[in-house]
Amino acid sequence: MHSWEEQMKAELLHIEKKAQRRRLHSIDFLNNSSIIMNGRKLLNLASNNYLGLAGDDRLIEASIRAAREYGAGSTASRLIVGNYSLYEHVETELARWKGTEAALIFNSGYTANVGIISTLVGRNDLVFSDKWNHASIIDGIILSRAEMKRYQHNDLDHLETLLKKAPLHKRKLIVTDTVFSMDGDIAPLKGLVELKEKYGAILMVDEAHSSGVYGERGEGLIHDLRLQEQVDVQMGTFSKALGSFGAYVTGKQWLIDYFVNKMRSFIFTTALPPAVLGSILAAIHIVQQETARRKQLHEYSQYFRKKLSDLGFNIGTSVTQIVPVLIGSNELTVQFSERLQERGIAAVAIRPPTVPEGTARIRFSLMATLTKDELDWAINEIATIGQEMGIIS
Ligand SMILES: *Cc1c(COP(=O)(O)O)cnc(C)c1O
Repeated sequence: MHSWEEQMKAELLHIEKKAQRRRLHSIDFLNNSSIIMNGRKLLNLASNNYLGLAGDDRLIEASIRAAREYGAGSTASRLIVGNYSLYEHVETELARWKGTEAALIFNSGYTANVGIISTLVGRNDLVFSDKWNHASIIDGIILSRAEMKRYQHNDLDHLETLLKKAPLHKRKLIVTDTVFSMDGDIAPLKGLVELKEKYGAILMVDEAHSSGVYGERGEGLIHDLRLQEQVDVQMGTFSKALGSFGAYVTGKQWLIDYFVNKMRSFIFTTALPPAVLGSILAAIHIVQQETARRKQLHEYSQYFRKKLSDLGFNIGTSVTQIVPVLIGSNELTVQFSERLQERGIAAVAIRPPTVPEGTARIRFSLMATLTKDELDWAINEIATIGQEMGIIS
């Protein structure tokens, strides 16, 4: 055996010993609220399909129509011959929805973050990044070669201390998630805007979990707080509440032009397939019109959080549709998620290194298309397991 092979196998073993080994499970889609895993039907409390749009016939039909009209693949990058008219149509609607001058679509949230950050800053610059930001943001910072200054989670005072120390002439980027994906809490956007103005920094906000979920027409939290003029770079995805795939950035027209010219993860990749764009367009329309979905999601979220915390579970700082149950030990967390599965609920055990050591948790996420009975049934099951395992009394 080669030594590199031995090293990697030892590493896998080490991961296994720490109860951190991840495995792929084959899943079948049953409907918006349920999946089939290992031959069993599970209530899906693990997906990011918050509004239930992934299974919506209108998105599916729109995908089929776009594929019929434009083909299965887009055949090239957007700057070559992949820029079908459908793109411009979707980007115009997107900018109108978000209340910004212009918009640009990317292949995924991951490639968007990696590309945006490495385009905005370089070797001599500074990035101020919330400690709990998504991995794609961290990877963007690493790729940019800028110096990363991590500030304590949602801690404006700490951020300001770091900004104060930064040399005046350096370009500064502040970057944050709006809704944090493992805790379900929210960034202090107003305070971040004040600091970015005070210190002349660029502010970039990732709305992956809030686009479609907040705002009167689902514009996101930035728009809900009327900050769309102040946030320089609004990024978000179509892969979560919008039930499709891909990502976007919105902002000033010149900034979008700059990305088109400079962003490597935009330039050197094949454009999204037409079918995906078709479903994005349908989702943008539905998400603006069907406010009842959002209302239902928020009602369920509030109800679920209150029930779990009344039962004695530690749900941390969640105020959204993402509700963690903090357990601590990796082993117990994995056991908890296995028991949930046995009883018919899909919810993922989140362990380090995704979250800090000692804060392993079950991450529940809610969906507008669940029924109240399904939700109440799930809460009962969670309570029973929690009691059996001694996590609540
Ligand atoms: C999911 C997520 C992404 C990545 O988006 P994809 O479209 O899944 O690649 C980026 N940022 C945050 C905060 C996310 O939660």
